[in-house]
Amino acid sequence: MQMQQKKPATDCKNTKKYYVGPVATEFVATKTGIWRIERPDVVIENCIFCGTCRKHCPTDVITMEKEGENRGVHFDWDYCKGCGICANVCPKKCINMIQEGSACNL
Ligand code: SF4
Ligand code: SF4
Repeated sequence: MQMQQKKPATDCKNTKKYYVGPVATEFVATKTGIWRIERPDVVIENCIFCGTCRKHCPTDVITMEKEGENRGVHFDWDYCKGCGICANVCPKKCINMIQEGSACNL
């Protein structure tokens, strides 16, 4: 947890002042994957490897491999919190949010 700023921050035009409260800057003890009640499941046949899901994931847990035996879109299940943003932004609508525990690759 960071200390609250001693001086107020200002906006770009210097017209407003506000304090920034304490913020968590490191997740050292919490694996956000335990929050998950749904998980993303990719229909890889429809994926065009555009990277939109990876770009928008708030926890940066998505990796992609376009070729090879690990070809696919991969998630770090320790930290994917199941927010569904990746599914919402996918232009091919090839990410389905499925109930946690129902993925065949668990
Ligand atoms: S956003 Fe959809 S199409 Fe693009 S890489 Fe992710 S899963 Fe594939
Ligand atoms: S469900 Fe949320 S946290 Fe998990 S991979 Fe998608 S965008 Fe990232």
